[in-house]
This record gives sequence, C-alpha cells and structure tokens, in this order.
Amino acid sequence: MSVKIPNKTINCQNFINGEFTNGDGEKIKVVSPFNGSLIGEFSSSNRNLVNKAIDDAQIAQRLWADVPMKERTKVMFNFRNILIRDMDEIAHLKCSESGKNFDEGKAGLIKGIEVLEFAIALQNMDIGGRVEVSRGVSCEYRREPVGVVANITPFNFPAMVPMWTIPIALTLGNAYIWKPSEKTPLTSMKIASALKEAGLPNGLFQVLQGSKDTVEAIIDHPSVKAVGFVGSTKIAKAVYDRGTAAGKRVLALGGAKNHIVLLPDANPEMAGVGISDSFTGCAGQRCMAASVLLVVGNAKDTEKHIENIVARARSLKLGSDMGAIITKAQVTFLKEAIGKAEAAGAKILLDGRKAVAPAGMEEGNWIGPTILDNVQPGSEAATIELFGPIISIIRCIDISEAMKIENSVTYGNACSVFTSNGALAEKVIKMASTGMVGVNVGVPVPREPFSFGGVNASKFGHGDITGQHSLDFWSNIKKVTVKWEKQNDNNWMS
Ligand code: NAD
Repeated sequence: MSVKIPNKTINCQNFINGEFTNGDGEKIKVVSPFNGSLIGEFSSSNRNLVNKAIDDAQIAQRLWADVPMKERTKVMFNFRNILIRDMDEIAHLKCSESGKNFDEGKAGLIKGIEVLEFAIALQNMDIGGRVEVSRGVSCEYRREPVGVVANITPFNFPAMVPMWTIPIALTLGNAYIWKPSEKTPLTSMKIASALKEAGLPNGLFQVLQGSKDTVEAIIDHPSVKAVGFVGSTKIAKAVYDRGTAAGKRVLALGGAKNHIVLLPDANPEMAGVGISDSFTGCAGQRCMAASVLLVVGNAKDTEKHIENIVARARSLKLGSDMGAIITKAQVTFLKEAIGKAEAAGAKILLDGRKAVAPAGMEEGNWIGPTILDNVQPGSEAATIELFGPIISIIRCIDISEAMKIENSVTYGNACSVFTSNGALAEKVIKMASTGMVGVNVGVPVPREPFSFGGVNASKFGHGDITGQHSLDFWSNIKKVTVKWEKQNDNNWMS
C-alpha cells in the first residue's frame, strides 16, 4: 500500500492538561521525505511554557500515584484498543513524516503495542513481595512511581520508540513528559488523542514540541526525576551529562554501527533475505540496521551469499519496498560517504547514488541500496554511523579476525551471525561487544518481556529501556520492614 501523505499543512500542537495548544517559540516546518511537501508546522515550547506543563504534571501525578495499578491498567487496555482501531491511519501519518513504507510504519506500531501489552501484564507480574525475615518481622518491597518522568525521542520511529516507554511509565504511576523529534511531530498528536480517549486523566501526559532548548528546559526542571532519551550518540551523551549533573537518573540510548558475521555454512536463503532486509529496511534508518558485513572464509565459499544479498537489494523498488531518507542533507551526506569509500579503495557492488526517484516523488529524498566490498577496517565506511541503506563488506580470514574488527568499534548495539553451526554461533554470541545479538536474525530486536538496550557508546546509563530490565528505571523500590508484636527473644531487629 502506498503511503497517504497529508495534502494540507497540519498545525502540530502541544498537548497539555488534556488540550491541544500552540507553543510560544520559534516556528519549525515539517517536510515529507517522500515528496518534499510541507505537511506540518509548529511553534516550539519555551522554558516558561515547559515549566508550567511540568508543574501541572506533578499535581496530576500525585493523584495518579494513589490510583490502584489495576485501574491504571484499564486506561492502558482502552489505549491498546484505540491504537489497533486507528492503526492504518496512524501508520500513514508516521510514514509520511519519517519516510518509512506503509508496512514498516505498521510494524513499528505493532511492536509498540507489544510493549503496551507488557505494561498491561504488569498488574499480574512480580511487582512486589514479602518475606518473614525473622520471627514476627517481615520485609517487603513495593514498586512506587518515580514522579514526573520525561522522554526525548528521535525521528526514525515516531510511534514505536515513544511507545517503548509511555505505557510502562504511566502504568507504574508516573506522569510523562514527551518531547518528540522536531522532524516527526505529527504522530505525537495521534498518540495524545488516543490516551485522552482512553480515559487518562488530564496532566499525566504532556507533549511539548520543540528541539534543543525545549529538551534542556525539560531536563532542568527540578520536578523531572527521570529522563529517557533515544537518538544519536553525541546528543545522548549531552543529555546524560546534563541530567546526571543535576542529580537525575538518565537512560540515554545512542547511535550504532552494527555488524553481521557471515559464515560460509549459512543457509543461503536466510542469509540473503536477512542481511539484505537488515540494511535496507527503513532505508537503513534504524539503530538495529546492519552496517558492516564481516564475510568469513574464502571468496569461493561465500560468493553465493553475496550474490543473493546483491540480488535481493537490487530488486527493491524505491517508494514502495524501500522508503525515503529523512532530509536532503542526509542524502548528500550518504552520497559523499559512498564517494569517500570508493576513493579509499572499496569496490561498489550496488550503487544507490544512481537510483531514480519514484514517479511523482521527484522532490523527495532518495538513495538506493548500496553495497561496498573490500572496505578497510578502521575506514570511515567501517566505523562511522552512516544511517542509510549502505552496507560495507569486510573480508576476514576467520571468526577471530571478524570479532576483533567488531570489538574495535565504539558502539555496542547489535551484532548478528548467519551460520548453521551452533558452536560457531555461540562463539560469536560470547565475543560480541554489543547489548543485543542475533543468530540468523538480521535485526535482533528482543521481544517482550526481554528488554532493549545496547552497551558502550550506544547507551549511557544503567538498565534497559523496555521490558523486565526497564522496571527499576521507571519506578522506585520502597523496602518496608514491619513488626506488629513484641517478641520474647529480642534480637538486633527489635
Ligand atoms: P538526534 O540525536 O538528532 O535527535 C534525537 C532527539 O534529540 C530529538 O528529539 C531532538 O530534537 C533532540 N535534540 C537534538 N539536538 C539536541 C541537543 N543539542 N540537545 C538536546 N536535545 C537535542 O537523533 P535523530 O537524528 O532524530 O535519530 C537518529 C539517531 O537516533 C541515530 O543515531 C540512531 O542510531 C539513533 N537511534 C538509536 C536508537 C537506540 O535504541 N539506540 C533507536 C532509534 C534511533
């Protein structure tokens, strides 16, 4: 299905205390990557407006904290049903602003709904516990909300990445401040409307449109106790430093340079599809996209795999199978990166620079899948996050050489191996310097209840952003020790 791009300019507003209202700052335009048309505009949120929205959220949060989790969960259940009812409409909107194709837009929302279902299940999971620790004395722990929490999100998943945290944070009793990417603010209004319709009390979900200044005002507000962030490494580090310097807990997920290790014994069909789809899906604009292919073994044994990957990537039609790049500046950056790799000695097996824009979308931001062979370890194409449909092949003698290259990159999001040998797969799993590893899976995103998060320069802070390992970030653990009756055998707990 082709993406329905809005034919008018949408006024992207803040959502504060249950109402849509305009920001009071700089005006920012939103352009569709598909055809360059102006699909939205908004006014950023200045510090005074941010402060007021957060003050109001704090008042709402105090009441929400006293609502039993079972009742909070009912709102989340309604929210789920509304998202499922409106899925196609939301998918079209998020695609039109982020450049994804329709299926990718829908898949992102479905993954977001899985997180929502995990949050709905929290009411029946281990969210506390009590043990008699000595005669007449019991200890228990209770999960309590942190208070007002904030989340800052990137352009590439306008619904899924926010949905990683919204349902969990709200179900645990927090108020939630969301600053969407200034490139993709349209989807945030749909999510806000859905939460309002679901019955979420006013003030618990405040959406503040803006960019750097708005983010800084949010982090600086003393009532914001926890800050989640997903975006590039440079900004993740800046957000982490600013938040932690103010004594807050911060979990900031950054960029990536993901490797796939391809062994000669891999299933050719699985490898061809899995590797090609990993670097071309979402036009390479996802933090789990493969970016470097470490081909182990001699050329004769691995050639069939390379041919399959090239054939699959070559067959993709721009505009339907593969979407657009977020900005024209990013297309220029990607084309220059290909040129630099070529100048440094890489052989171009598939050249996306020559791709033709789909009919009627000539003003959009297009580049085709690109496969670079014989890339040198340590070169820019091998180490820098490009964030486009480009994969760099590095030839390796054995797994040890491949993993030495993988380990040398500063990022640590994902690494996959394609093989039919379990022992070799296990070797890669153990040696990978990443938070997430895949075996015969090109995009190894953990599914609920398993949590999402990298290591090294792909994550600043402790814990993960979704799943079981996110609960301690979005809540506080209160430890309670209780004795009701005096005991005869007094001990140190008396
Ligand atoms: P970005 O870092 O440019 O922007 C992310 C957010 O930070 C946006 O909301 C933006 O408004 C805000 N921001 C921008 N400059 C800021 C500043 N100086 N101070 C404070 N906030 C600022 O990222 P992007 O281009 O929107 O997204 C792509 C990047 O996100 C890629 O690097 C990708 O790998 C990464 N990403 C990572 C994950 C992950 O889970 N690790 C997931 C998705 C995307």
